[in-house]
Amino acid sequence: GKKAEKAIEESIKKVYEIDNKMSVFKEYSEISKINKHAGNLAQIVSKDTYYVIQKAIKYCSLSRGAFDITIGPIVGLWAIGKKGQQIPSSNEIKEKLKTVNYKDVVIDKNNSSIFLKNKKQEMDVGGIAKGYAADEVKNIMIKNGIKSAIINLGGNILVLGTKEDGTPWKVGIQNPIKTRGEFALTISVINKSVVTSGNYERYFEVEGKRFHHIINPSTGYPSESDIVSATIISDNSIDGDGLSTGVYIMGVKKAIKLIGEIEGVEAIFITRSRDVYVTSGMEGKF
Ligand code: ADP
Ligand code: MG
Repeated sequence: GKKAEKAIEESIKKVYEIDNKMSVFKEYSEISKINKHAGNLAQIVSKDTYYVIQKAIKYCSLSRGAFDITIGPIVGLWAIGKKGQQIPSSNEIKEKLKTVNYKDVVIDKNNSSIFLKNKKQEMDVGGIAKGYAADEVKNIMIKNGIKSAIINLGGNILVLGTKEDGTPWKVGIQNPIKTRGEFALTISVINKSVVTSGNYERYFEVEGKRFHHIINPSTGYPSESDIVSATIISDNSIDGDGLSTGVYIMGVKKAIKLIGEIEGVEAIFITRSRDVYVTSGMEGKF
């Protein structure tokens, strides 16, 4: 498109803006402020942050707490992919787990405010905000008259339209046991979000055991379900992102059932035993 450069500039600005509002690594972010005032004061937040939190709560509830945005204290404890990454003591985990409960997030639409009921609670929207950012980039593309684009935010792919020659975009799903760039399968998509959560991007190993960044809120430890890669295909990336993290933890049987019940959403799972499962709408499409 004629406004491609402008669209990219605007997109980069928007992604930074979202990061500044929602990163837990920035003490001035809106999420950090909510956490700082937990148990004390509700925080008025921007439309962006309110929307993400409200969507996140929907997926916490749909996944029956497998996805839980109050996982912050546990994520902080493990610090996976960060300087202080470590296996925490089981006591520390037990202590912090007491604070995890998305039902303690109070949202007030009229004031656009968010409140965490208990003092030590911390929100982490790291499992869903990237999906929102991808959707916002797509909207910027559309606004600038672009008909054909691929947006890649690392694990979150969003394709707009078809390729320039009119054929569908081909998206590869990383083979979880091979080096980056080697795919297990590809899918052809038009106007879709393809989001993958996996155990092979952010992790550390101790004595051959892998500790990755998707935490099971019922144990406080990295998820040990039979899934090693969960891909969600949906129209909006925020939905794909919110779902991919939750179903990863639920395991393949429950995951297929849940996704099967959601209209317009499909999934691909790769298990520890190297099997590939797809929801019915994906059959013959990969
Ligand atoms: P990525 O961020 O690597 O694309 P995900 O979308 O699966 O992958 O999100 C993982 C992030 O979500 C973690 O880094 C952490 O911040 C957060 N997280 C980890 N476990 C959970 C959970 N059970 N519920 C909600 N968020 C989680
Ligand atoms: Mg996610």
